[in-house]
Amino acid sequence: MDRSVIRFSHCQKEIFCFSVPEECPSCGEELRGSRLQEAPISLPSPFTNGHKSSCCLLVAPAHDNINREFGGTSELHTGISNTTGVVYNYTQGGVRKDQSGWERCVSVPLVRPDMFHLLAQWDQYLDRFSDGPMWDPAWHRFHEEDHNCFSFCLQFVNSVLAAEERSSLTRETFTHSFILPRMKRVSKYNTLYDHIQRHRYYMIDRQEDRQDDTPVSS
Ligand SMILES: [Zn+2]
Repeated sequence: MDRSVIRFSHCQKEIFCFSVPEECPSCGEELRGSRLQEAPISLPSPFTNGHKSSCCLLVAPAHDNINREFGGTSELHTGISNTTGVVYNYTQGGVRKDQSGWERCVSVPLVRPDMFHLLAQWDQYLDRFSDGPMWDPAWHRFHEEDHNCFSFCLQFVNSVLAAEERSSLTRETFTHSFILPRMKRVSKYNTLYDHIQRHRYYMIDRQEDRQDDTPVSS
């Protein structure tokens, strides 16, 4: 999945596709040479390269998820990136520091770019946190449900918040406010992408007052 989705308008329709066709799929009018009222725009992909997004929580398909796809039922894996593109993630064998493998994932920024103090300490915090006994397989056993990759990320985020004298987040708040909205965007995008792959277009009636919750633009 690497083609970008574009959107253009014609005859009161919004048409999503990979490239502008020769004829409008709705009214059949020839499009080549004729100027569209507005230039087609490309939709931003919900995926980012985790090794190029520093200080983020990253969500990717699990390594044993054979198709490496995000789907309703696929297993997900989470990690935290440092400022140099290394992704720290907790697994059965302890904390891994990955330099590759997170090229296509969903990222949740954890630090505002103006938080210089925190940015300067980030890599050190992350190293120190990862060395803790909580994540050492000799001390503490990985548990599928309550001591897993997500526990590692959440506790790290909370240790940073504590260092900044801010209150901690529960698993529920973190999931609902930061992760689920992005996963929803991924699933909308994937549905749209699959549809275009199968039918070449996806068409909806044009809405004059475009809301932010139209497909994948939010
Ligand atoms: Zn048309």
